[in-house]
Amino acid sequence: MSRKSFWQLLYLESLGLNEVILPEGVKTKAQALEEVRRQVLRCTRCDLHKTKTHYVFGSGNPYADLMFVGEAPGAEEDKKGKPFVGRAGQLLDRLLQEVGLNRETDLYITNVLKCRPPRNRDPEPGEIQACFPYLKAQIQILRPRLLVALGRFAAWTLYGMQKKMSLLRMQVQQSKFGIPLVVTYHPAAALRREALTDEMRRDFQLMVQTLEQLRQSS
Ligand code: SF4
Repeated sequence: MSRKSFWQLLYLESLGLNEVILPEGVKTKAQALEEVRRQVLRCTRCDLHKTKTHYVFGSGNPYADLMFVGEAPGAEEDKKGKPFVGRAGQLLDRLLQEVGLNRETDLYITNVLKCRPPRNRDPEPGEIQACFPYLKAQIQILRPRLLVALGRFAAWTLYGMQKKMSLLRMQVQQSKFGIPLVVTYHPAAALRREALTDEMRRDFQLMVQTLEQLRQSS
């Protein structure tokens, strides 16, 4: 993705053209999230809706302090309509367990794109831009204490511009939403290159330490 695409994204946001409008009467986080989910389930903002099997909105605890963001649904997620249910999801669950976290109760998880790109290709800038209002709405509704980006596309989207993973990892970043951000690899990448699993373990340590500090300082 070119740097320009991200600036374009920010520009559209500044014009207020990138908003999900919530109806009046929505009171709780769960209600607001459900409203955004309903909007996603009829979305035709990019061509990925034509090739997907299911929209994959997100899952987990909307009241959790942690929010994980991946890149896009894979084959298994597309089939089941749930995020991170394939082999990458199993690895993620293992790494979470190692730091004492449960995916259903301790975090909320979603992807930048809610529909699977064919053959798991990289997301295109136009697709990220089209889908961005939903992610933005999810973050604004949940207001987690800490965001965790899984992989470079999630990292760039949450950070607001392209930067090498080596410069984004192992230190707490400030996301464009004003929420602290920890960046790690996508578990699918760790399945392809085993050495990355240990790198992810280091990032998860930073994540739990940062979360603890954020809780203590509030
Ligand atoms: S990827 Fe996002 S923007 Fe594109 S059709 Fe699916 S929900 Fe809509």
